[in-house]
Amino acid sequence: MAKQRLEGKVAIITGAASGIGEATARLFASHGATVIIADIQDELGKAVADSIGIDKCSYVHCDVTDEVQVEKAVNYAVSKHGRLDVMYSNAGIFLLSPSILELDLCDFDKVMSVNVKGTAAALKHAGRAMVAAGIRGSIICTASVAASQGGYGPAAYVTSKHAVLGLVRAAAADLGRHGIRVNSVSPSGVATPLSCGVTGMTPEEVEQITAAACNLNGAVLKAGHVAAAALFLASDESEIISGHNLVIDGGNTVVNCAPSQVLEQAYN
Ligand code: NAD
Repeated sequence: MAKQRLEGKVAIITGAASGIGEATARLFASHGATVIIADIQDELGKAVADSIGIDKCSYVHCDVTDEVQVEKAVNYAVSKHGRLDVMYSNAGIFLLSPSILELDLCDFDKVMSVNVKGTAAALKHAGRAMVAAGIRGSIICTASVAASQGGYGPAAYVTSKHAVLGLVRAAAADLGRHGIRVNSVSPSGVATPLSCGVTGMTPEEVEQITAAACNLNGAVLKAGHVAAAALFLASDESEIISGHNLVIDGGNTVVNCAPSQVLEQAYN
């Protein structure tokens, strides 16, 4: 049997009823973790938990914009399983908006509420439970390539993901003194209900567009790649890594191919 990288650990994953969170819940459970899915899509979340197995996974309703519900989800993990080792704050939304010139500030508040306030609440309450129990836990947040560059989404989304990185760094400073690690994962486009819903594209179309922007020839980003990065950050293999933003984009955000293509032409 393959090595169980999260044996004995208890993990909460927000936004795990679908997409990246669901893939991560399945991977964490397959590596020996007891997983709690915290989401607002009750039917879907329960179905995912049941399909993983009632001995390995359960579902709690948790709207991350409500701090009390986040605290209850953390309390549920501790009372049911005796501990919380991993919090993966992954829930997020993306609302379409054409330009800053047409910015809808109500939509801006909604995006900030889920993506930023929800992340802050997860960091706070998971951190408190880990500190109280003396657990050297791992907290992971889903940021995005939109956390480091403009152009990957509307203003509210880009702003919210930049703020997630700020929260990760602030929390890494505060929680590091308790031995708790805080990191983020930053994928580029992954075919999920979020990206397909926003673009109106099929999963194949989303993957084609992301692959075309990717410097790494032939690479197609899947939810499983993000889950694998989260698994590494959740496991003891990353025990010395904190405050890190693990970008999962095949080099997209750090390689600009245009100059090298010009130089190649000049050379030839
Ligand atoms: P998804 O829509 O499949 O999953 C998001 C989940 O979050 C859903 O299950 C949804 O019900 C849940 N959610 C939404 N609002 C919530 C709330 N208030 N409380 C609790 N749960 C809530 O989308 P996904 O693509 O898997 O997104 C997961 C994360 O990845 C998000 O933070 C997103 O911003 C980020 N991300 C996605 C992509 C992409 O291309 N898909 C790229 C970079 C980052």
